[in-house]
Amino acid sequence: MISQEMLALGQSRSCIRELFEYGMKQAAIVGKENVFDFSIGNPSIPSPPLVNESFLDIVRTEDSLDIHGYTSAAGYAGVRKAVADDLNQRYDAHIRPENLFFTCGAAPALIAVVRALAVKDAEIVGVAPFFAEYRPFIEGNGAKFVVTPPDMEYFQIRLDEMAARINEHTQAVLINSPNNPSGVVYTKETLEKLANLLTKKSREVGHPIYLISDEPYRELVYDGAVVSWVPSIYPNTAVCYSYSKSLSLPGERIGYVCVPDGAADSAELYAAVAGAARVLGHVCPPSLQQRVVARCAAERPDLAAYDKNRKALYEALTSYGYVCPKANGAFYMFVKAPGGSSKAFSDRAKEKNVLIVPGNDFGCPEYFRLCTCVSYDTIQRSLPLFKELIDSFQ
Ligand code: PLP
Repeated sequence: MISQEMLALGQSRSCIRELFEYGMKQAAIVGKENVFDFSIGNPSIPSPPLVNESFLDIVRTEDSLDIHGYTSAAGYAGVRKAVADDLNQRYDAHIRPENLFFTCGAAPALIAVVRALAVKDAEIVGVAPFFAEYRPFIEGNGAKFVVTPPDMEYFQIRLDEMAARINEHTQAVLINSPNNPSGVVYTKETLEKLANLLTKKSREVGHPIYLISDEPYRELVYDGAVVSWVPSIYPNTAVCYSYSKSLSLPGERIGYVCVPDGAADSAELYAAVAGAARVLGHVCPPSLQQRVVARCAAERPDLAAYDKNRKALYEALTSYGYVCPKANGAFYMFVKAPGGSSKAFSDRAKEKNVLIVPGNDFGCPEYFRLCTCVSYDTIQRSLPLFKELIDSFQ
């Protein structure tokens, strides 16, 4: 017998993947330049030069057996020290190398933390709009995903709604800022209020409620937005990080879980993360990529191209009458669908070869997501189509 749960997951393709593949098929028919694919969050800026230089230099100069061999499951000592040093320098974070467990990106980092906390009847509370894969990550790993409805005005967190969803089964709250899909950065004030709520609720339910902070877009911010170091606001936090977006390395699969000393039962949680990773078949993070990250821990992306795209799209779309929060992070815009249904809008856009993701799977069906990690030319040439689209709903 085959697991029906896994079969269903394997057979239902994510809407993003479907659009992406549709785009490739259409490109073969109408030409690549006539498909405006805003569907997938693949970085469109090259990695900082030091990244590729490091790959080359490591392969040329370091011992081949070392480069390609197994490392310790948590990552080799050099990379954990380099990243801890960088976090401490930036945030005064008091992170030791032993707090870091390297993974193949943020996805397995999140799953390891979820599994580490998935006791019987465990619930994890998320916030809409949320990264669509959270649902399979949580529900496929032994916990219930409970969703806090969205704040449709500022896309921060509706703490009253969240409070109503926390109970004795709540093991953790999961947040993501800068946010995919809204592009919004949670303010320090939001995080402080969240911390107060979780402190109060932990007392009420009689056990610590963890905060899982999913931060693959930590460095992607604009207009002077500041991303707080979440454990300094709520110590009982596990941070999941990835180099997929910040160093434009999504296919290389490298990231980490950070369990700071201030987290409840920190050593045990860290060990449980290692145990969960083991169950999931984690042996070690890619060895070569660890060595690159060790050299590039202090590298930051050049955001000029994303910023230019973001501004051009926001200015044009709002001038046509679209409504959306001004995104100050990540590389997404979350736009209210003219006509009210993002699915209907996405279908009509698809007829014009404009590929945008309806917000249903993000827990926000009235909005659609645009990835701004495309070429500037794609944006410029798509604008008349966005104008036609909104006009067709008047
Ligand atoms: N979390 C969020 C919010 C994301 O947007 C993504 C990828 O797009 C991930 C996690 C997974 O990232 P990774 O490629 O590092 O597994």
